[in-house]
Amino acid sequence: MEFRIIDLEKEPIEFDLEIPSGAVDLGEEAAQLGALAVSGQAEVLHEHRGPKDVVADIRLRGSFAGKFQVPCARCVEPVEIPLAAEYDLIFRPAAADAEATERSITAQETEIGYYQRDSLVLEDVLREQVLLSLPVRTLCKPDCKGLCPRCGADRNSQACTCVGEDPRWEALAGLRSRIESKEKSPQR
Ligand SMILES: [Zn+2]
Ligand SMILES: [Zn+2]
Repeated sequence: MEFRIIDLEKEPIEFDLEIPSGAVDLGEEAAQLGALAVSGQAEVLHEHRGPKDVVADIRLRGSFAGKFQVPCARCVEPVEIPLAAEYDLIFRPAAADAEATERSITAQETEIGYYQRDSLVLEDVLREQVLLSLPVRTLCKPDCKGLCPRCGADRNSQACTCVGEDPRWEALAGLRSRIESKEKSPQR
C-alpha cells in the first residue's frame, strides 16, 4: 500500500489490512509465516520552517501482529516468533533534509524516516519495523548445543566423534602426556 502526499493532503487515510507472506521483503534474516495484520492511520503534518518553507511530513501510526521465523543463532534451526507491536513514526520528504545528511547523524535524527518523491510505501515501513522488533539473537532453546565447529553436525540431535573441540581439553591432554613421560623416565 502506498500513501501519496496528494491524497493525504485531502484527508487522513485509515487502513486495516492482511498482508500476505512475501509482500514485505525481510531478506535473509527472517521469514513471515501467514498473514501480517496491520492497521493504522496516515496523515500529513505540516512543518512550518519559514514563511514560504512548509515541509509536508507523513505521520504513520498503528499496530501490526504476525508470526515470523528466524534461524537459531547456534544451530540454524528455524524458530517461530510471534510479534505484535505499535508504531508512531514521522517521515519527512528526502529532499527537505538534503544538507542534513552531510552532518553526522545524532540519536534524535535517526528517529525520523524519509520518504522518496511524493509517497510512502507501507511495506517498506513494515520491513524496518519487523526487523527492529525481532530479537537480536534467537536460540531454539536456552541450552542449544549448536553445530560442531569441526564437522558441522547438529549436536542437539547427534553426538559427533570429533575430539579436541575444546582447546582446554587439548592443553590438559598435553600436560598429562608430559607428566606420564616424566614418571616413566627414571625406570628406563
Ligand atoms: Zn538451536
Ligand atoms: Zn563434530
